[in-house]
Amino acid sequence: MTKILIPLEKSIGERRVSATPETVKKLNALGCEIFIEKSAGELSGFNDFSYEQNGGEIFNFNDNDVWKKADIVFCINCPDKENLIKLKEGALVIGLMNPFGNKKLIEILSVQKLSAIALELLPRISRAQSCDVLSSQANIAGYKSVLLAASELDRYFPMLMTAAGTVQPAKVVILGGGVAGLQAVATAKRLGAMVFVSDIRPAVKEQVESLGAKFIDLPEISEKPLESGGYAKAVSSEFLKEQREILSRHLSEADVAICTAQVLGKKAPILINENMLEKMRPGSVVVDLAVSQGGNCVNTKPNETIIRNGVKLIGAPDLPTSVPYHASSLFSKNLISLISPFFKEGIFELIKDDEIIQGCLISDKGAILQEKVFEIGVRN
Ligand code: NAD
Repeated sequence: MTKILIPLEKSIGERRVSATPETVKKLNALGCEIFIEKSAGELSGFNDFSYEQNGGEIFNFNDNDVWKKADIVFCINCPDKENLIKLKEGALVIGLMNPFGNKKLIEILSVQKLSAIALELLPRISRAQSCDVLSSQANIAGYKSVLLAASELDRYFPMLMTAAGTVQPAKVVILGGGVAGLQAVATAKRLGAMVFVSDIRPAVKEQVESLGAKFIDLPEISEKPLESGGYAKAVSSEFLKEQREILSRHLSEADVAICTAQVLGKKAPILINENMLEKMRPGSVVVDLAVSQGGNCVNTKPNETIIRNGVKLIGAPDLPTSVPYHASSLFSKNLISLISPFFKEGIFELIKDDEIIQGCLISDKGAILQEKVFEIGVRN
């Protein structure tokens, strides 16, 4: 029987878990034995008993034998070295491995002869949509970013007509109209704001308009292709300069800016610089979801709120973990979709020339497969 280990996530502030009682039941039906570290689901709203009721077995953090016998480890974030070295040769770790430029990871995987799937590298093909944790988690981040902005803003979001006078709707500018950005648009619209979006992929214009928001025109400099494999490409500094000029006008009238613009494996583009911040209204709020990649706004710091000339700058790298129940439910369902096709009559066998696996398998029993990702932070 394939033995799957579900660890208690150890990263600071992490509240998600990589399997829920519902997905443990599904793994059982596939013919797996599932070992869940004590209290692993507690912060997501799943207690140990609910895992046991669905066929899981609870183990204590000091039970090294479970790590030694595991065939597969499901995780949100890559487990620490202390636990990885307990795994047997050929064990498969699946999660957000943070592989970009991560030379320490390459060393552990190759020395310990481990296999690993980095979910960040799932190819953007239709068949991979149901496995795509970046999308399921970005959706949550987009939703929560708007709620956070609304609760920090010094004014209402919707237009209100009251006996004391009329309140104008808030103006929200969203930078990046991918999964997080589009969910931020939908959430801000539901709260009654006027919403404007900037993205460099022209396809986003139609999606934004279908949600009732306005697309901010792109600079006229022609720069093509702006997209490859479903990902935006980094644009030139001349393009960014012109883009910032266009954005500056919008931001000077904005109440809220939500920053979601990213380029896979690269630093996020700076879309709000010091000059632009100076023109923003005191009391306005910037929520920067791209802060872990350097941020779209200057001066934002992960998990910090900084006030600059009265503008609140919120660095929000981990919003999915603030909705742990649904973040865990969706993440764990993504994992089931990813591995289910590789079970035949209870036996797990990874098909390495499968298009999805080819894209995201970073190590095969210690043989490193995506060296460029580890070395210089880009795809092979
Ligand atoms: P992302 O997180 O990589 O980037 C966020 C957004 O930032 C993107 O829309 C990108 O175009 C934008 N951006 C980059 N540089 C910018 C700049 N200078 N100014 C403004 N915006 C900038 O992207 P994402 O949200 O994960 O998804 C992007 C697209 O890929 C979406 O259309 C999504 O539906 C699609 N997607 C497809 C699959 C699949 O088919 N399996 C999976 C995931 C995403």
